Amino acid sequence: MQQPDLRSMTQPELAALLTSWGEPAFRAKQLFSWIQEKAAADVADMTNLPLPLRERLARETQLTTLTQADRLVSKLDGTEKYLFALPDGNIVESVLMRYDYGLSACISSQVGCRMGCRFCASTIDGLVRGLTAGEMIEQISRIEQTAGERVSRVVIMGSGEPLDNYDNLLRFLTLVSDPAGKALGHRHITVSTCGLVPQIRQLAREKLQLTLALSLHASSDEVRRQIMPIANRYALADVLEACREYQEMTGRRVSYEYSLIRGVNDTPEQIDGLVRLMKGRGGHVNLIPVNPVKERDYASTTRARAAEIQKLLEKNGIHATIRREMGRDIDGACGQLRRRYLAHETTGGEAL
Ligand code: SAH
Repeated sequence: MQQPDLRSMTQPELAALLTSWGEPAFRAKQLFSWIQEKAAADVADMTNLPLPLRERLARETQLTTLTQADRLVSKLDGTEKYLFALPDGNIVESVLMRYDYGLSACISSQVGCRMGCRFCASTIDGLVRGLTAGEMIEQISRIEQTAGERVSRVVIMGSGEPLDNYDNLLRFLTLVSDPAGKALGHRHITVSTCGLVPQIRQLAREKLQLTLALSLHASSDEVRRQIMPIANRYALADVLEACREYQEMTGRRVSYEYSLIRGVNDTPEQIDGLVRLMKGRGGHVNLIPVNPVKERDYASTTRARAAEIQKLLEKNGIHATIRREMGRDIDGACGQLRRRYLAHETTGGEAL
């Protein structure tokens, strides 16, 4: 049987384990703080716990820790891309971005992805598995360790579909916001989804103060289906209705991601449609010039056209921004860095 992973356990779960071992309940908070706040990599380091307890923990539990497989640092803006090896040898990517307000981490929620979005590199080889809550937390901890600074914002926009790994996502959200751990409030966390309607509804009912980002990427079902297979399962009207429900139930404004692909979703018809859909919604539109993926032949909308689209949205009272490009010199669209790394490992090829 697999040993319980301390990194993925909540304080009450740790308390239940420790009291079942005859330990006083206050030890759970100490242990939790070592795991989550201090991000200890080894039970042996937890020096305020009695030695016999540390020995038993080492024998009967595991403590998921990620190791850095690679790190690229942008000379332009200090953005850092990380490749982390999970305990089973799988690799995930995370990104650290530096803003005026502090550090922001973009983390992965799955190894690979099964959503199949045509412009996205993370999904090309399908889904390997969902990450545990501890593996999601660890991406933040290892970035903080390298940066020597706390991460103040987290976006779950790395590889994977977070709502396709729902239970582990919720567990992650409990762990990351615990005051005895990272104490990162949900208001500082964004969960991005390609639009899984039942899970958006479910998340709305949790009434967490998260920012929900919907990957919209088209304003008609027809075009959305061309680039996002999930659009065959859920109609745009239903996805948008679920987002409205999310906004109503949580009081949080939803963000709409729109990756601009030349000649596909940046046409006058698509953008007029976008204006119609977004008008009066009180959402925020984030325009992202698509990051071309080697395996696909999609081209990005020009900067000038993106600016024009932003202006049109603003003119219609829709709050819109163009995502600033970060780490352009260490580029690689979502999932590309990992793909290059894996190809390099298997072929023993030259440079990454
Ligand atoms: N599965 C989630 C989160 C991961 S992707 C989702 O679909 O939202 C985070 C965002 O990056 C999504 O909006 C996704 O559509 C977008 N994205 C993926 N590949 C991209 C690319 N090559 N260029 C621009 N945006 C991309």
